[in-house]
Amino acid sequence: MCTNINLNILPTKINLLDLDEKKMQLFISSIGAKSFTTEQIMKWIYNYNCHDFNKMFNISKKIRNKLNQISYINMKNFSEERISSDGTIKWITSLNNQKIETVYIPEKKRSTLCISSQIGCPLKCKFCATGKEGFNRNLKVSEIISQILQAKIRLKQKKITNIVFMGMGEPLLNLNNIITSLNIILHKNGFGLSKRRITLSTSGIIPALDKLSQKIDINLAISLHAPNNYIRNSIMPINKKYNIQSLLSSVSKYLKHSNANHNGVTIEYVMLHNINDSIKHAEELSYILRNIPSKINLIPWNVFKYSNFKCSSSDTINVFANVLRNHGFNTTIRKNRGKDINAACGQLVGNVISRNKKPFIIL
Ligand code: SAH
Ligand code: SF4
Repeated sequence: MCTNINLNILPTKINLLDLDEKKMQLFISSIGAKSFTTEQIMKWIYNYNCHDFNKMFNISKKIRNKLNQISYINMKNFSEERISSDGTIKWITSLNNQKIETVYIPEKKRSTLCISSQIGCPLKCKFCATGKEGFNRNLKVSEIISQILQAKIRLKQKKITNIVFMGMGEPLLNLNNIITSLNIILHKNGFGLSKRRITLSTSGIIPALDKLSQKIDINLAISLHAPNNYIRNSIMPINKKYNIQSLLSSVSKYLKHSNANHNGVTIEYVMLHNINDSIKHAEELSYILRNIPSKINLIPWNVFKYSNFKCSSSDTINVFANVLRNHGFNTTIRKNRGKDINAACGQLVGNVISRNKKPFIIL
């Protein structure tokens, strides 16, 4: 965490989109400006989409000059837009030679922005196109925040009511930047979203989940996808490090401190033909979740190139859902949006120059 900003050793200008309110406050006091300048700058950026210090007329000229010398507001623009027949929009951001993807999903009662946290993903889940693509690096806070700022600009009057970390990458492998980004999303002078409207989906990086639980309360979605370790090991390599039992116990701990998840955690379960979709599997899933307040979201598997999986039939998915419902679980079947533009779950590949890094954890 940035606790001390020494201007003498700054290698380059500071991008203010990398700073949450606390970090900006440190920066502001280090340049000798009054503390209310932080609120003024955040309002200019996040309320008025103004990224030019010279136009921030309520800040003194002296401070504006200083800001221009040592900092900037550098938003990454979307470079491509694809619109689905169902209204879903996919935007692409180019980062040097690579690409990340952001998806906007309008519905009757809410409009969700699905954002990416990494360029690719190192966890290599077998059923996921992002995992197949390999991994390059974590996104910076400014690259995460730019996705939201850009979407807001493109959507003009249309509101983003919900934000989900379900795009490319495993957010808990980029924990520090995700926490700073969440602080900006939640702050009243940032995007001002309520914690109930933010969801982080994770395949279950336990130390990071435990740390998140001490820092921030938001909705959790857990990519479980299997009712036992045998199946989970075979489709999600991360399970060999953090197995189902330890993951569920970490989730229980998170729930104890959480208001945002008052209706329980969301359990994501991708429906894979002949792999995890039998009645026996549904019974097994009900059993392992018996003590976890949860709602189960069944995700019809989305096809991508060079994959050997098949999606379960809709009959199988309905039977599976009914077994869970009979056990008292609130169970929904996810509508896959934006399939015609490859914007649905697990279809986001971007363009990743894979460095085949082993999974790592920044804590
Ligand atoms: N890395 C995080 C978030 C990104 S993936 C995670 O794994 O939770 C968002 C969701 O889409 C996850 O539940 C993921 O398992 C699921 N998913 C991945 N590939 C998919 C595919 N081909 N079809 C359907 N869902 C998929
Ligand atoms: Fe990574 Fe999530 Fe895809 Fe697994 S499902 S490879 S964790 S993005």
